[in-house]
Amino acid sequence: MEGHRLRTIDDLDVRGKRVLVRADLNVPLDGDRITDDGRIRASLPTINALRERGAKVIVCAHLGRPKGEVKPEFSLAPVARRLGELLGAEIAFASDVVGESARAVAAGLGDGQVALLENLRFEPGETSKDDAERGAFADRLAALAELYVGDGFGAVHRKHASVYDVPRRLPHAAGGLIVAEVGVLKRLTENVERPYAVVLGGSKVSDKLGVIDNLLDKADRILVGGGMVYTFLAAQGHQVGKSLLERDQIDTVREYLARAEKAGVEFVLPVDIVAATAFAADADHEVVPADAIPADRMGLDIGPASGRLFAERLAGTKTVFWNGPMGVFEMEPFAHGTRAIAQGLIDSGAFTVVGGGDSAAAVRTLGFDEAAFSHISTGGGASLEYLEGKTLPGLSALED
Ligand code: ADP
Ligand code: MG
Repeated sequence: MEGHRLRTIDDLDVRGKRVLVRADLNVPLDGDRITDDGRIRASLPTINALRERGAKVIVCAHLGRPKGEVKPEFSLAPVARRLGELLGAEIAFASDVVGESARAVAAGLGDGQVALLENLRFEPGETSKDDAERGAFADRLAALAELYVGDGFGAVHRKHASVYDVPRRLPHAAGGLIVAEVGVLKRLTENVERPYAVVLGGSKVSDKLGVIDNLLDKADRILVGGGMVYTFLAAQGHQVGKSLLERDQIDTVREYLARAEKAGVEFVLPVDIVAATAFAADADHEVVPADAIPADRMGLDIGPASGRLFAERLAGTKTVFWNGPMGVFEMEPFAHGTRAIAQGLIDSGAFTVVGGGDSAAAVRTLGFDEAAFSHISTGGGASLEYLEGKTLPGLSALED
């Protein structure tokens, strides 16, 4: 994007130094059980590279949205355990972020050892919009280390203390994960191999409409499923029953559809929908035409004919970016659409990129082989904002 060079850990002399690594360890949890440890695994290469070079590694990360308060259910303790297992090493876990425990743990590290700080978002300064409050917290975080490595790709679109302010206070570099992620995103924005198809779904409708604006000049084909599809169906004048709907976005969507038609960009919308009586795995459900969703039902997945249509529109493409599950894949009756799209990507033979925490988790929990995709990104919002052409605070902070 900006064309500046990202500094890498090869540019840092880390031996014997305390290195603060901002990782993305925001994994899905069921109680204190980690249901998908993909993000922890993705953080290992950089942590291991630093250990091998004799650094004292202090990892920091967030989990969920505790909103600046200490909430035990958002503790990183289960993540510390899993990280230790995967590294095959003892992890010194600090019971606070920048307090007494964090300072003691940081001071006690030997060369090649690893510590994890408690959830960054237990501190209001981490996400504060007030520069002074965020800066004060960044000062305390930076004081724990001598060097900074940014590797939490999933958070680089956030102007948060650990992402944006700390690298401005310490000599810094990008970790291997960020370097790899940015390399892939470049292939989706510069000299894209065509046809280029983008598949969008998931639940955060308004977040995802923004990227369409930018993709209308770049993609050849945009396939829409998941929760945002109902705003599209409504824009076409259809009833969507109790489905997810953002009324205030209907006009925007209508404008996108008109612009796409002018620009020769093909929008592919589902032709059938799995409509359920409630948001529950055991809810009564049936496949209905996309333009005939009953008033008392909600669409929780794209239907089988849509799955086939989407797969057919992916065949013959050279590049595919997919963000957002096609339905509520966490419940088996509504996982078929997401499965069909995952298979469609694999069968396309294209350069395939899956972005988004839930999309990546879906691919794995539905039993697909990660290696069947060209790249599974750890960041959804971050990938989308990069594709929108926005400047990402956590990336610009790592440039030299
Ligand atoms: P990602 O993390 O990959 O960017 P999102 O967070 O935007 O994806 O969306 C993931 C969520 O979207 C999943 O938990 C899924 O259950 C939900 N979802 C998908 N389709 C629907 C739908 N039709 N109605 C409600 N939620 C949906
Ligand atoms: Mg998500």
